[in-house]
Amino acid sequence: MSTNRATSQPRVLISGGGIGGNAVALQLLRAGIRATVAERTAAPRPGGQAVDLRGPSVEVAERMGLMPGIRKRQLDERGMKFVDAAGRDVVRMPAEMFDGKGHIADIEITRGDLNQVLLDVLAAEGGVDYRYGEWITALEQDDTGVDVTFASGSTERFDIVIGADGLHSATRRLAFGPEEQFATYLGGYMSFFTVPTPEDLEPHWFTMHSVVGATNIGLRPDADPTTAKALVTIRTEADPALRRDVAAQQALIRQRLADAGWEAGRILDAMNESADFYFDELARIDMPTWVHGRVALLGDAGYCGSPLGGQGTSMALIGAYVLAGEIAAHAADPERALPRYEEVLRPFVAKAQELPPGGLKAMTPKSAFGIRAGQTLSKLMTAKVMKPLMMKMMTKTESYDLPDYSAQTTAN
Ligand SMILES: Cc1cc2nc3c(=O)[nH]c(=O)nc-3n(C[C@H](O)[C@H](O)[C@H](O)COP(=O)(O)OP(=O)(O)OC[C@H]3O[C@@H](n4cnc5c(N)ncnc54)[C@H](O)[C@@H]3O)c2cc1C
Repeated sequence: MSTNRATSQPRVLISGGGIGGNAVALQLLRAGIRATVAERTAAPRPGGQAVDLRGPSVEVAERMGLMPGIRKRQLDERGMKFVDAAGRDVVRMPAEMFDGKGHIADIEITRGDLNQVLLDVLAAEGGVDYRYGEWITALEQDDTGVDVTFASGSTERFDIVIGADGLHSATRRLAFGPEEQFATYLGGYMSFFTVPTPEDLEPHWFTMHSVVGATNIGLRPDADPTTAKALVTIRTEADPALRRDVAAQQALIRQRLADAGWEAGRILDAMNESADFYFDELARIDMPTWVHGRVALLGDAGYCGSPLGGQGTSMALIGAYVLAGEIAAHAADPERALPRYEEVLRPFVAKAQELPPGGLKAMTPKSAFGIRAGQTLSKLMTAKVMKPLMMKMMTKTESYDLPDYSAQTTAN
């Protein structure tokens, strides 16, 4: 094995410096393995609205020593509500109604802030070898290592390659096959971007408005009260022309929000100026295996459940914790470590990938009648009798038995 000569630890390359990539880099560092992280963007990518941490992912964040940073940036979200085109409340669901286990989770933090917490802890503990603006163009593996060619033209040999490069993972394409083999389109697109907080927006509430024509818009609190996170959900046929074409993505949003009422006008104005516009298709990734020889997939790259499922960040954090733990436990034997990672994590992912009943259709009714029916259903969910059903749905992953890797990866 081509171990790092200075430390005789395996040489690990992580493709993607998002939540999964940074979390696995941190845990490997604690096991004495200083990984290389190749991130395609020129700097850490900002953006994203609130992501949920529940049950076992809160436990992992505790064990990783992330909680002090998370507590500082945690959102104070007090409930979720639907409003009509004039901004009047239609349904209100306070967070305490579901004891912090409903749509508003134990911990809500914006995706960009969570990534920054990981980067801060990594930097404080000595950092890893970050290569921004770099990505893998070819992979070739044999029994003793993986030869990697980078976009910059350099080639290097690693013992293990981790693909944490998101839904459209290049590592997955190079080592496992084309995206079409593993992706299921879930019927639409979601967009997130930061907007100035409208004056009349109720603070601390996640506010949503359903628009006739299979579209939903919302504003969620940000850590900074002067800004909010806009989200736009659009149900439509898949359109490959939308991939990476920001002008076409924004044109679709403009068309759907043209007569939407509520804060649509301000959301559109802010979209034109936003520095963190994010738009992607809603898709699920299902793979027969996340491991091929010395290459393993982590997070959305291997088991994306889409923002509809609300567990993507939990899966990436827990996946990173298990993957680093198994690599550390079998440092001299990647061929044992990587299949163990898959074996230990599969039961959690199987539950976490389940989508809420009705999927995207329930979230984006087409007609005014459908919108009213959806709101009646939401009102029903606030009834006491429905609470146990809601709680069961939202706590389905809480029984996962998290392994303990503290002997291998101890926080400083
Ligand atoms: C900007 C952004 C905003 C998001 N906002 C939300 C949100 O609001 N709500 C939600 O539920 N989910 C959101 N997601 C998805 C969410 O982050 C993931 O579902 C989850 O955190 C799992 O993390 P991950 O590390 O697998 O993927 P991600 O967090 O998506 O990270 C993947 C990383 O890989 C990088 N990358 C992509 N291709 C390559 C390549 N070829 N080589 C190297 N690096 C590459 C990306 O730039 C990114 O930094 C967002 C993702 C991004 C990138």
